[in-house]
Amino acid sequence: MLGQMMHRPLRIADILTFAEELHGDAGIVSSTVEGGRHWQSYRETGARARRLAKALARLGIGAGDRVATLAWNGYRHMELYYGVPGIGAVCHTLNPRLSAEQAVYIVGHAEDRALFLDLTFVPLVEKLAAHFPAEMTYVIMTDRAHMPETSLPGALCYEELLAAEDDGFDWPDLAEETAAGLCYTSGTTGNPKGSLFTHRSMVLHAFTVCIVMQDAMRAGRRLLPVVPLFHANAWGMAHAGPLAGATLVMPGPHLDGASVFELMQAERVFSAWGVPTVWLGLMDEIARRDRLPEGFGEVVIGGSAAAPSLIRAFEERGVDVVHAWGMTEMSPIGTTTKLGPAAAEVPLEERLRLKSFQGRRAFGVDLKIVGEDGTRQPHDGQAVGELFVRGNTVVSGYFRNEDASAAAIDAEGWFGTGDVAAITPEGFLNITDRTKDLIKSGGEWISSIDVENMAIAHPDIANAAVIAVPHPRWGERPVLIAVPAEGRVPDTADLLRHLGEHLAKWQLPDDVIYVDDLPLTATGKVSKLTLRQMYGDHKLP
Ligand code: ADP
Repeated sequence: MLGQMMHRPLRIADILTFAEELHGDAGIVSSTVEGGRHWQSYRETGARARRLAKALARLGIGAGDRVATLAWNGYRHMELYYGVPGIGAVCHTLNPRLSAEQAVYIVGHAEDRALFLDLTFVPLVEKLAAHFPAEMTYVIMTDRAHMPETSLPGALCYEELLAAEDDGFDWPDLAEETAAGLCYTSGTTGNPKGSLFTHRSMVLHAFTVCIVMQDAMRAGRRLLPVVPLFHANAWGMAHAGPLAGATLVMPGPHLDGASVFELMQAERVFSAWGVPTVWLGLMDEIARRDRLPEGFGEVVIGGSAAAPSLIRAFEERGVDVVHAWGMTEMSPIGTTTKLGPAAAEVPLEERLRLKSFQGRRAFGVDLKIVGEDGTRQPHDGQAVGELFVRGNTVVSGYFRNEDASAAAIDAEGWFGTGDVAAITPEGFLNITDRTKDLIKSGGEWISSIDVENMAIAHPDIANAAVIAVPHPRWGERPVLIAVPAEGRVPDTADLLRHLGEHLAKWQLPDDVIYVDDLPLTATGKVSKLTLRQMYGDHKLP
């Protein structure tokens, strides 16, 4: 028998409308690209998002069209986060840290109709524009006074577009399965893959974040998303923050320890979210001043494993550490170590132990681990296996990529994360390794296989393998292990120059080690395991 309740589609724009009505005085503080700090309430943000919706329609952008953003965390980016999906178009956040080749591929694959960019990225986009779709509309996210001279064809000024509209606009009805957001991540091989979020998945994810992050997501709280809006929905803060009535303090391009400290101090930030590299920078600053920014009570560390020493440094100073694990493909929150009010009762050493795990699952995220023999493993804290996930905020495939979609989902309909983990009887996830051949440096991916293929394309190199070497600041850095071609003596500087033609600078190996041959597995593949054992503690130059 079916129940008799209404079915109203979950829409992202309703979050902002709700924030306008109930939390109209909370809003967004932005450290801007133009300089200075800017304040805007959710009431104003809602009005401006509706103007933006009208401006998009005037530009000919409609349902299903992809609208790219290339921007830091700030209020205009938030307006795009709501205005673009609000009209049924898709907000496609581009990651400015990708190589030029990857960016060109992604924009072409997504068939973006428009690109909204911060001033910072004008020179970058000018270089790439010739390779972008010819009909692209470029909008620079600034006012008339700051509009640069640019070669971007027909570049428009964001504030002028908004000024030409009024905010009399009703968000259209949309089916909740309508695509709302698009975010690409690096694949192990080949090109980046797109996660295509729906209104439904984003709203459910916002609920999840509000429930899990019970201390941060409260009316009147002040939160700092250092995690970028272009990286996995800023871990849900862009939606959960307004829903809960928390104010978002946006750092713009200023992500070094001193800038983050000053912004947190000035804005009395309670909870700050980002990758370990950022918190190492902040911790240096805290140690230098021997004090915390006032009001700082919680730090969310994710994207890479949080080192026990980092967790200890924050906890000993009284900051509640929430270690979080997730993936872009999961919207992204999967597990957290938010222990709730009971945390204060747990002795420090035990708390540190629990928080070095990746945490327990959020409601709506199911976890299973599968051993090498394909069988499901017990959650006994000992058995390890590949981690699979299932839930309403997990992708069912990749945008326009049938092969990758088929490879990602198992026969029971679970998504394979490429992470290797154990799960304790209490439900704590312990990530021990990864099956995906990727290196994570400062929270961003480097594909080992891409670097290897490029190295092997050099005439002086016969074979090559890339492994991750632990790094105190970046988490991991790539090291290239290369076999010289017969009779050749490779020149490292020349090799790196060659790789630099295809890779972003930070993706280049930190060192090259030359060997006579590479160790092989029983099946004849290069044994990364052996290489990691041999060179895992290699001293970087
Ligand atoms: P995000 O960095 O926002 O979590 P990505 O999709 O870029 O999302 O990366 C997801 C991957 O990053 C995971 O599959 C895992 O390999 C790694 N990762 C994320 N968080 C953690 C963590 N807390 N500990 C260990 N690895 C993590």
